[in-house]
Amino acid sequence: MGIDSEQAAVDDEAFLADFAALSAIGATESGGVERQAATDADRATKVWLGDWLRQRGFEVRVDAIGNLFGLLEWTPGAPYILMGSHLDSQPCAGRFDGAYGVLAAAHAAVRLRDRIAGSPEPPPFNVAVVNWFNEEGSRFQPSMMGSGVFTGKLDLAEALSTPDSDGVSVQQALEEIGFAGTGQMPEIAGYAEIHVEQGRELEAEGVTIGLVESNWAAHKYRVVVRGEQAHTGSTAMEERRDALLGAARLVVAARELIDHAPPRRLHTSVGQLTVTPNSPVVVAREVKLHLDLRSPDQEVLEEADRRLRAEFARIEREAQVEIEVAKAHFWEIEPYQPAGVSMAEAIAGELGLSRRRMLTLAGHDSTNMKDIVPTVMLFVPSAQGIAHNEFEYTSDADLLAGVTMLTEVASRMCRGDLKN
Ligand SMILES: [Zn+2]
Repeated sequence: MGIDSEQAAVDDEAFLADFAALSAIGATESGGVERQAATDADRATKVWLGDWLRQRGFEVRVDAIGNLFGLLEWTPGAPYILMGSHLDSQPCAGRFDGAYGVLAAAHAAVRLRDRIAGSPEPPPFNVAVVNWFNEEGSRFQPSMMGSGVFTGKLDLAEALSTPDSDGVSVQQALEEIGFAGTGQMPEIAGYAEIHVEQGRELEAEGVTIGLVESNWAAHKYRVVVRGEQAHTGSTAMEERRDALLGAARLVVAARELIDHAPPRRLHTSVGQLTVTPNSPVVVAREVKLHLDLRSPDQEVLEEADRRLRAEFARIEREAQVEIEVAKAHFWEIEPYQPAGVSMAEAIAGELGLSRRRMLTLAGHDSTNMKDIVPTVMLFVPSAQGIAHNEFEYTSDADLLAGVTMLTEVASRMCRGDLKN
């Protein structure tokens, strides 16, 4: 082996060792992790990452919404090319979702610094790593909270006052884990993120790198179904206004929306039902739930929305309940900067990595970031498309190829190859 390939082997081994160490935090018995936002396990990952970064000479900052930044500066005062993802997870989740992207970013930044150390003229942009707060949105809604505040799409005070299901606010939770920061958000000139695909397209085609061109559009609703509390035994059936029955019909109606959409162009789901009072002998008076519609086609989504509203009216009549949409979030289909997609495509070609252009079905922090700076979003394959599940898996070879790819993307962006 030459010196370069020896160094590459050392770098690869270091990445895999660090990934194993990170995966041990909040580990579940089946090889997954549970690290919901601002819990003890989430705190432990932040401490781990902060130490890792400080040991390697990064300046570490935590901002008011709990985003953790690691900054490397070689051109004093210049803006940063930011790379990262999230270390928080869904309940009982996989160890790759988000965590891979944060660690890949950290390693890419160090590799870049080592490379630049030998060159006479440093690039015009500095590099920084970020662990966004609460990307997952399982404990506190909405998801992508840290990048939402960073990009100004979400008001900081509103985000901090958001309660979890026990009434604990984001502010309180961050204070409890010692990560309610006062650090300034860095000025940035670009963003890059790598993530596991969470679908089967790359694996099915034997492709290593996904180049994300655009996100699917999504409509997300917080729905409240209201009925009337009653005795499950004694209340006459025709007098019941069962909120759980209404919610159940809504679950089915959401699933059946896809019967009216073109094949594979609409995804629907209902999650997190909160039933009140949730007693075995009480007809539920209220059910809160989250309902999502997603599509790569805005028209399909609008049509699904119209049908859904009609279903609300039908269910209200049939189940004698009231349905209220308490909150709704809409994401449009918005492309990533085409120049970034082309640049990443060329880089993958030079590195000899198989690649394809694709859309992302899931939301990512990059979905926010691309609206304020040139952004590159990359995928590596997910075995069998398993996601938000302990058995999520990506091979070492694909993880390592992704770090190489991200390093090169960051290198070009720091050089100023992708400008606004
Ligand atoms: Zn993720």
